[in-house]
Amino acid sequence: MKTGKLIVLTGPSGVGKGTLLRALRRRHPELYLSVSVTTRSPRAGEINGRHYYFIDRHQFEQMVAAGELLEWAEFAGNYYGTLRRQVETHLQEGEWVVLEIELEGARQIRRSFPEALQIFLLPPTMDALETRIRERGKDSEESMALRLQRAKEEIAAAGEFDFQIVNDNLEKALEEIEAAVFAPVSC
Ligand code: 5GP
Repeated sequence: MKTGKLIVLTGPSGVGKGTLLRALRRRHPELYLSVSVTTRSPRAGEINGRHYYFIDRHQFEQMVAAGELLEWAEFAGNYYGTLRRQVETHLQEGEWVVLEIELEGARQIRRSFPEALQIFLLPPTMDALETRIRERGKDSEESMALRLQRAKEEIAAAGEFDFQIVNDNLEKALEEIEAAVFAPVSC
């Protein structure tokens, strides 16, 4: 059986994971970006099945009970989870699968896939992150406050990851991610 590679990208909300992953995918279309399920409402411009599968809490709980999620977590009042079958199918095809998930999910993946590559994306400063979250302006005040609180907890755990990359410059951060992802495996 062919087996691909699992890559986890974690970092606080607003740090720029989505933008970086889109840029990475443009350069390496062979990478497969997993599409998660979430109970969060779609933001303006988000498309069901492309950014997320938007489902309700009851559906989410049923998926958890049926073991359909590889990992899941609650974040800023909503549930998020990775579809097990989607990831396993692509890995079995030998593809490289990227998960963009928060800290608790990354820890679950570390237990079930210890060989997964784990990257943590850091903001240049906390102030810069706060500005990014506020300027995005797509979340409620309450959600922004929860996201900032969670950001501090996540950043404190950055040392658990194989790589810590600071997103102070998109091109530089992208090159560092590429270097981590495509580094030759040492035996
Ligand atoms: P947002 O609401 O900003 O799209 O995402 C909030 C947080 O949930 C982000 O840190 C994002 O990486 C994370 N997230 C997205 N999908 C998943 C998932 O499937 N599992 C987990 N554990 N976190 C996710």
